[in-house]
Amino acid sequence: MSNNKKELETFKSKRNFRSSPEPGGDDLNLEWAEERPVFVIQKHDASNLHYDFRIEVDGVLKSWAVPKGPSTDPKDKRLAMPTEDHPLDYSDFEGVIPEDEYGGGTVMVWDRGSYSNLKEADEGEEEPMSVSQQVEDGHVTIQLKGQKLSGGYALIRTGDGDDPRWLLIKMDDEGADARRNPTSTEPNSVKSGRSLDEIRAEEGNPDE
Ligand code: MN
Repeated sequence: MSNNKKELETFKSKRNFRSSPEPGGDDLNLEWAEERPVFVIQKHDASNLHYDFRIEVDGVLKSWAVPKGPSTDPKDKRLAMPTEDHPLDYSDFEGVIPEDEYGGGTVMVWDRGSYSNLKEADEGEEEPMSVSQQVEDGHVTIQLKGQKLSGGYALIRTGDGDDPRWLLIKMDDEGADARRNPTSTEPNSVKSGRSLDEIRAEEGNPDE
């Protein structure tokens, strides 16, 4: 078992759970998930609208913020900025973070499901490189099985130093479709069917 306490210190230090409805990592069962490991893409209408791309790795959600969101066109390279690890139960979070809190704004479960490691074992090796090691190496290839997105995606680190940038790229397979544009044609939640406005209206605190 991996100890995810240390990985989640940054997540916890940035948040006040008395005023934010965000989950703090107590539920590791993920009742919504039929298969593991999971991925989730949360549409987050904060100071800038972006999509948080998260994958379950060693007991936490490794996370990247993707300003334009994922594409189904293999020609697109979408900038993905690494953010702090999130607890597994964050994959079920949809709601409104108060404006004066870190990440203040509305969060929607835009897509989610399970994924598998697409890396093949190197010659002479029995096991392919783990996804955890791929994250370390800056080159992750996984197969998504979501409700909107499916097939291979690569996350590739470019440049280095203190401000690494990653790119999220659709791999050219049967899940690829240059004519689809799911961020605009399928804008609503896969958890509740709601739009951002509906989540805001139903979950927002009228006293604020
Ligand atoms: Mn975010």
